[in-house]
Amino acid sequence: MVNVRKIKDIISYLLVNYRRRIENISVTDITGCLRQTYYDIVYGRNLLEPEQIHTLISAMEGGVVHSLLGELLQNCQELNCVLEQHICVEKNGLKICGRPDAICLIDNELIILEFKTVRRRVTVENIPRLYMRYIRQVQYYMCIWNMLNEKKIEKGYIVFIQLVDKANNPLVYEVKHSEDACREMFERAEKLWKCLQSDIVPEPEPSPICSGCYWRSKCMNVLPLFGRE
Ligand code: SF4
Repeated sequence: MVNVRKIKDIISYLLVNYRRRIENISVTDITGCLRQTYYDIVYGRNLLEPEQIHTLISAMEGGVVHSLLGELLQNCQELNCVLEQHICVEKNGLKICGRPDAICLIDNELIILEFKTVRRRVTVENIPRLYMRYIRQVQYYMCIWNMLNEKKIEKGYIVFIQLVDKANNPLVYEVKHSEDACREMFERAEKLWKCLQSDIVPEPEPSPICSGCYWRSKCMNVLPLFGRE
């Protein structure tokens, strides 16, 4: 019989046993630390742990901002945007897929827009250090798109909505297409795939992300930050 208890049990089970399923490589699997992605896929996370609740709520808040901006873009006829188009490219049997927030035609130029909500103060100067994964994400989307389409995309924009420096919203950061980034995309995808196939943990990729990484204690062999084993 369906009741409050049953629904609570179902949702709790799903949250406690969260695990990424891997059929294809998704762009976001290879933009951040490959070791973190590897651990997420192999071990899964308990999203009901106290510190994970913050992550979950941030993701939900981010989702609301995405929907709102998406709706505004779609209602704006002059911008001519396609939202969350699923794009994939395949090389040597390895498929890499992504879903850019928006691809828009503005002044006869195709561009990518990616929306991010962040809790720390972002500046144009600190973005490459703090948010390299977002820069890669936009570059990789351009790589995939350009391999599939005649009309190329040379520029993308990350639109940050930040909580700390509210007066500076939205902060827009330009990302240029790069052939080096395209080569890197395939290299990183192949590396992750090989590690998953052969049970080899990828090397760590230390960055400012490490301080709040779910896998910090396992990866660095240190005590957990929040009392987790
Ligand atoms: S602690 Fe840093 S290097 Fe280790 S898995 Fe997490 S993000 Fe990667």
